[in-house]
Amino acid sequence: MRKKLIAANWKMYKTPDQARDFFRDFLPLVQAHDRDEIVVCPTYLCLDAAVTAAKGSSVAVGAQNLHWEKEGAFTGEVNAAMLLAVGATRVIIGHSERRQYFGETDDTVNLKLKSALEAGLIPIVCVGEVLEEREAGLTDDVLRRQCMRAFYKISAKKAAKLVVAYEPVWAIGTGKTATPQLASDAHIIIRGEAAKAFGQEFADNLRILYGGSVKPENATALMSEPEIDGGLVGGASLDPKSFSAIVKY
Ligand code: PEP
Repeated sequence: MRKKLIAANWKMYKTPDQARDFFRDFLPLVQAHDRDEIVVCPTYLCLDAAVTAAKGSSVAVGAQNLHWEKEGAFTGEVNAAMLLAVGATRVIIGHSERRQYFGETDDTVNLKLKSALEAGLIPIVCVGEVLEEREAGLTDDVLRRQCMRAFYKISAKKAAKLVVAYEPVWAIGTGKTATPQLASDAHIIIRGEAAKAFGQEFADNLRILYGGSVKPENATALMSEPEIDGGLVGGASLDPKSFSAIVKY
């Protein structure tokens, strides 16, 4: 049985004070909830506030990005050791907004994944097709390529804690959600790539999250699908009530 993981991606929202307010209201709502793993990924600037606020709870904190180098002249960047030092234990890698607006490529995803795993961070690697690719019937090819290149030259032993998020780009922040069946089909492709890279047993245990306009209203249908091992939630994770309703789908 794969334990489901529900992760919040706060993107570029919330100040440290707003992060503290969120945790004050959110933690009581999920206090007794141990069925699923809960992760909140705020901006770098709010990591410290989030880690402090989440202390003593079962909610883990993650970052939304990292740089792969150990240190150096990389203005504006943050590395894995820095994330761990402030108490972040998870990191999102290769989110489509980073691929779309900040030049993230399959190769940088691979470098970041290696660096996160090496340091002991739990990575959530995002893959997913854009609308034109889906309409052209290229979804499976895109997912295969993104996974193959993300997993390149990483051993199953090193990758043990890997989590993958399938996020069809046309469903992110658009209110359009993939059907559970469509998401499930994509997850099967991703699991197949994981089996090729890391072996069948690894793939059977790999958690693959779905992301793209997950909301309290559609969470039950999505999370009940056996292939879907949790969710990566953007907009609906900013509000404590709405995120707790998703967590408790
Ligand atoms: C995301 O940011 O990963 C995401 C899925 O956003 P939203 O839930 O707003 O579509």
